[in-house]
Amino acid sequence: MKSSTQKENLIGFSETALKGLFTGWNEKPYRVYQIFNWIYHKGVFDFEDMTNLSKALREKLNETFDIRFPRLTGKQQSRDGTTKFLFELEDGLNIESVWIPDSDRKTLCMSTQVGCRLGCTFCLTATMGLVRNLTTAEMIGQYMAINQALPEQDKITNIVIMGMGEPLDNYDALVEALRLMVSPEGIRISGRKITLSTSGLVDKIRAFQEEDLNVNLAISLNATEDSTRDRIMPINKKYPIKVLMDCLNEYPLKKRQRITFEYVLLKGVNDSLDDAKRLAGILKGFPCKVNLIPWNGFDSGDFTSPSVERVLSFQNYLISKNFTVFIRKTRGADISGACGQLATESLSTSQPPC
Ligand code: SAH
Ligand code: SF4
Repeated sequence: MKSSTQKENLIGFSETALKGLFTGWNEKPYRVYQIFNWIYHKGVFDFEDMTNLSKALREKLNETFDIRFPRLTGKQQSRDGTTKFLFELEDGLNIESVWIPDSDRKTLCMSTQVGCRLGCTFCLTATMGLVRNLTTAEMIGQYMAINQALPEQDKITNIVIMGMGEPLDNYDALVEALRLMVSPEGIRISGRKITLSTSGLVDKIRAFQEEDLNVNLAISLNATEDSTRDRIMPINKKYPIKVLMDCLNEYPLKKRQRITFEYVLLKGVNDSLDDAKRLAGILKGFPCKVNLIPWNGFDSGDFTSPSVERVLSFQNYLISKNFTVFIRKTRGADISGACGQLATESLSTSQPPC
């Protein structure tokens, strides 16, 4: 949060907003691209070093803005190389992001909120409730701060928005962040390398398709019957499975693009062969792939992860029906960096939910 003496953070400022400001300053709009080029492509964060800008503009920028990222306060590396980064935000709250290496692919799992208000009963983040939304700068800042700290061969190639929070519940800030990420003038990561995971906020999915950002969509389905989904994902009471699937059926997909369905396997809850059969029925004919995620446990969690045999028979049934099905490798579980294991100490130090 900005204190009264603190300058505006230029990170996260959209192209449009900055162009508007520059018009008032009698500066040409292309100056925005020069500045973005310094920041996002060259990693130069001191206006003084932006040598193709006039001295007057550099001074004005200096008076108005600075360039700040969330403060990296800790780093934990898993045996499998997965690294969890801990950040302190300007108001003292903490968030986590996870860097996952997989041969040439280096994926950043990014957070969009401190906590989450959707209350899925198998998810540790849910136990925090929603503390607050992250700003665009805090989302972009996770990428920038981590990427800067990584050696050349480990730089981020892919982004999954699957960290703390429900991205579509922080819609405006998220869309601004994604615009900066995919923009050729900004971070310049192709939308095809970004995956946004949502619990299925139907109205927001509809709005999102109009943004034309071309990022991949992953839907946390996690159950095949409303009675079960109502219980483990309360959002299902508002947007039941059929309503969600109807919305996805209308979602425009580019050639060869598919929607990913995530399915957290919870022993005795949603992992039976009948579930696999119902899932095949729900997804029949849909351009999709399925990610099965055996539940990652945490101390206060009330579930159990199914046996390997059970997971494999669930997968095999779907494969026999010609679905593309992956079992999500558990990465970073020894550092509590796996899916659904992110939550921070901010529970005890946090401000009231906004
Ligand atoms: N809020 C978004 C993104 C964050 S959760 C969403 O729900 O999709 C990212 C993924 O982790 C989701 O697919 C969710 O179902 C899964 N998940 C949550 N808790 C988990 C746990 N304890 N074990 C395994 N997967 C979990
Ligand atoms: Fe929120 Fe996603 Fe966790 Fe559900 S699974 S509580 S939507 S972060």
